[in-house]
Amino acid sequence: MASKKLPFTKQKIEEITKTYPTPFHIYDEKAIRENAKELIRAFGIVTGFKEFFAVKALPNPFIMKILKEEGFGADCSSLPELLLAEKAGIVGEDIMFSSNDTPAEEFIKAKELGAIINLDDITHIDVLEKSAGLPDLVCFRYNPGPLKEGNSIIGKPEESKYGFTREQLFQGYELLKKKGVKRFGLHTMVASNELNTDYFVETARILFEAAVEISMKVGIDFEFINLGGGIGIPYRPEQERVSYDRVAEGVLKAYNDTFVKNGLKPPKIYLECGRVITGPYGYLITQVRHLKSIYKEYAGTDASMANLMRPGIYGAYHHITVLGKEDQPLTHKYDVTGSLCENNDKFAIDRLLPKIERGDLLAIHDSGAHGYAMGFNYNGKLRSAELLLREDGSVKQIRRAETTDDYFATLDFKDLRSFK
Ligand SMILES: *Cc1c(COP(=O)(O)O)cnc(C)c1O
Repeated sequence: MASKKLPFTKQKIEEITKTYPTPFHIYDEKAIRENAKELIRAFGIVTGFKEFFAVKALPNPFIMKILKEEGFGADCSSLPELLLAEKAGIVGEDIMFSSNDTPAEEFIKAKELGAIINLDDITHIDVLEKSAGLPDLVCFRYNPGPLKEGNSIIGKPEESKYGFTREQLFQGYELLKKKGVKRFGLHTMVASNELNTDYFVETARILFEAAVEISMKVGIDFEFINLGGGIGIPYRPEQERVSYDRVAEGVLKAYNDTFVKNGLKPPKIYLECGRVITGPYGYLITQVRHLKSIYKEYAGTDASMANLMRPGIYGAYHHITVLGKEDQPLTHKYDVTGSLCENNDKFAIDRLLPKIERGDLLAIHDSGAHGYAMGFNYNGKLRSAELLLREDGSVKQIRRAETTDDYFATLDFKDLRSFK
């Protein structure tokens, strides 16, 4: 069984808590950089590879800047995400704008930044033309519908709200061509948190086959094919990580069988992964505030599902290490809870852990994607700080914790005083 290692000791975290009180998320810069390099190395075998980090996974501009340095672009889905990319120095065609139900002002900002605009629907061609004007390069999101089985997180493509049908792709590119657009991309995103290599390779093949058929029928060349994101991570200790090499080799084979075999101009291959880029390299650090023994044993922490809601909303597994007790036997069964007035505010249910004492520090693993990002303020819970564990072992705060002033910032108490 693989074990889940930590990039810090209990002593290190105790030292950090003197400056930054719990709870907080801490991200391991060294591991993020190494993983980014590994992805780029593995996909080096395919033409023009580029990864656009899906900002929604960890929307922090410091992290985005690190990833930019490693050669990544940004995949944005909203105006604030576009603005974050701009702040992090990611502009032009290093931004992929993949949004849905898109307001016109977002098309305008994306066009102004020179981003690659990925349209979710055939009717958006007209919306884009009338709002921002058609750029030289346009991409469509493909929903393969019944051609592809879904996975549990994103659901069946046939039932999903995203993208163009296969038939609409032909009509859409035909229309773009008629309107003078010269450069074309094709995209899909059909899975999330998928650990099966074959799934990605099969998706690539479906996409490549569609692109080849469109190229020949419509008479266009594709500049790139974006295979989307969705590579999963081993949340559980017994799971294995996806081999980038195996996915890249499978994609290359599908590429050779389609574009190369048909003698078409070879498009570049893009990915827009989020979870696998930062997920495993973030930890939510929280302190056990109370122990409670009723019908079950509870370890109550100073964090809540407002800091990490995946366990609460999906019943997702997040590994927990009791710091300083890494080598102790797992002799006690706990529900590890947060303080929200919601009974699903639990980080773990019936989890075997070493005996916990009040004041123990817990590391909740894999909080580097959809952790802070999914945070909310329900029940007056404030969002935590985000810290970066640097390669030299120092710690930098990359976002401060919220205060009650932040929470009340949209209220006008002066107006309340005179309100009758
Ligand atoms: C969420 C999302 C991604 C990233 O998905 P991961 O599962 O985090 O890799 C990529 N593209 C789009 C359009 C998305 O919505």
